[in-house]
Order: sequence, then C-alpha cells, then structure tokens
Amino acid sequence: MFSKLGCLTQLKFLNRAGQFQFAWICVVATSCLFVGSFEAIADSDFEMHEVASGVWVHTGQIGDFAPENRGDLANLSFVIGERCVAVIDTGGSRSVGEALLGAIRRKTKLPVCYVMTSHMHPDHLLGHAAFLNEHPQFVAAATQAKALSIRRMGYLARQKATLGESLSKGTEVILPTHPVTGSEQFDLGGRFLTVQTWRTAHTDNDVTVQDSQTQTLFTGDLLFVDHLPVIDGSIKGWLAILPELRALAQGPVVPGHGPDTQKDGLKAFSLEQDYLMSVASEVRAALRAHQTLQQAVSATKLPEGTWKLADLYHRRNITAAFAELEWED
Ligand SMILES: [Zn+2]
Repeated sequence: MFSKLGCLTQLKFLNRAGQFQFAWICVVATSCLFVGSFEAIADSDFEMHEVASGVWVHTGQIGDFAPENRGDLANLSFVIGERCVAVIDTGGSRSVGEALLGAIRRKTKLPVCYVMTSHMHPDHLLGHAAFLNEHPQFVAAATQAKALSIRRMGYLARQKATLGESLSKGTEVILPTHPVTGSEQFDLGGRFLTVQTWRTAHTDNDVTVQDSQTQTLFTGDLLFVDHLPVIDGSIKGWLAILPELRALAQGPVVPGHGPDTQKDGLKAFSLEQDYLMSVASEVRAALRAHQTLQQAVSATKLPEGTWKLADLYHRRNITAAFAELEWED
C-alpha cells in the first residue's frame, strides 16, 4: 500500500511531552502522509549531575536495549578543563550521544577534544558518531580496534533489531584514533585525565580514567553497581585487578552501570568481588565434580542479594567462567 513512498524532507517539532520528534513528509501518488517517525531525547530530559567540580555524570538505565530506553544504558560522563572537554562513553545510540552533546553545550562552549571509550561494548560507544563534527581524538585501549572490528557488524545489526530502524538511524561504530598502551595522560588545560589500560577482565580492552583535579575515578564496566557484573573477558583477570582498582578509589567513583559513589566506592568493589568469587567457586566445584557445562548451568541458582538483571546474565557468567576455568591446572 505504501510501496511508493518517497521521503522529501525531515521536520523537527516538540511533541506534547516536550520531546523533540522527527518526521518525514512522504508522498504517495498525490497525497501527503507522515510515516516512520522517531523521537530524539530532548535535552531537558537528559539529566546530568555534577559529582565533583567540572565532572558531570549521566546515570544510564539498568536494562537491555529496547525502544523505550533508546540504548541509554551506560553511565556517561564529561570533564571540563580550561582548554577543552573530555567525554567518557557516549551511550548506545547516536540519539543518546546527541543528547549528551546537548548537555555539554548547556554547560560550556569549549571544544570536545577527547572522546574516551571505557571498553568496546555497544551501550558505551554507539553514540560516538554524534561527536564527529567536534573532531575529537577517539581514545581507547590499543586492543580495542581489533576486538571492535570483529564485533562491529553484529553490534549494529543487534541495535537495529532491538531499537528498530528509526532509533538506530545515524549510528556508526567509530574505531579509536588514539590507541593507548599502558597508561597515558591527556591535558584538558588545568587538569589531566589519566587513561589506564588493564589486563583482560570485564573485556580484553578495559580502561579506567582518573581526573587529576578531583581524583574522580571512571571505572567503565570494571565496576558494576546494582547491575549484575557481566563477564566477557576473564574472571581470573578481573579478580586479580580488583585490589589495584580499589586502591585508585581516592575520590568519587563512577561505575559503568548504577549510581556513582561519593563514599561507598570500596563497598561497591567488595560486593562485586564477592559475586565474582562466588561464581568462580561454584564453577570450580562443578569441575571437581566432573559436571558438564550444561549440568553446571542447569544447577546454578540466581545469586542472593539485590543484583538487577541476574536472570539475564548470571547463567551467561557461569558459562563464561566454566569455559575459562576448565583449562586451569
Ligand atoms: Zn561492558
């Protein structure tokens, strides 16, 4: 019926909820119709709070990709220096990235010189394309480009399948332009951000970012708060680096998911460590009992406590840990 739609132009208007909405005017034979509309996040709906002087954080929703959240799942941050602004993670769609850029522009006119990616997962980096016109350096672990190149098409396909055509429109996977090995400092004018790479833990391309002026530590998904931790790298590696991460927590801690902490950073690391240790211990017991992976996954119970999304991720974590630990001595 609508097989000969031709989109002529795009309109932007405020709907009744005060959200910006886009629509295309399309022509069918001699009549005009509106079809295929999508909503971008209005700046006023995109909340940021200042966790330390010049350090702003948006807390993502705890959930999976869905049209209702537009991929707004990860914590997103920016830090304002005297010379320029650095962004840490940009969200799960271009729409979310644009909302973040809008929030930055409400605070400062300084250029965005760095877009830092905590790791390769799509909820943290599919908003990068919104920043292309700012011409920043895209900073990430040197190991990220290879990992992301392998998964990029899958990430884009999954985003389209979960968010739909309209909400995934304009999203691109941007590969890093400034790879980091070891650690490196980035000068924003009057303050430095230290980007530190880590051994394989949550993924094989995790970095933390720390602000020299306020000691705010951005952990990416090396720290989950409320949201069940997800293993996509190495449970042994993750447990091994947790003491070093805890030692860095000298100020506010901004996790990859869940509320940031002013005072309870160490407690958050402890809760995560307890969970990861319980997974490792359960899997090692299953291996000692010569269980198969299927038996171990079937027998597991959801973890105690207040972890969210345990039904979605706990069995996956048992599977990942089993695959890793069955080869240890
Ligand atoms: Zn992640």
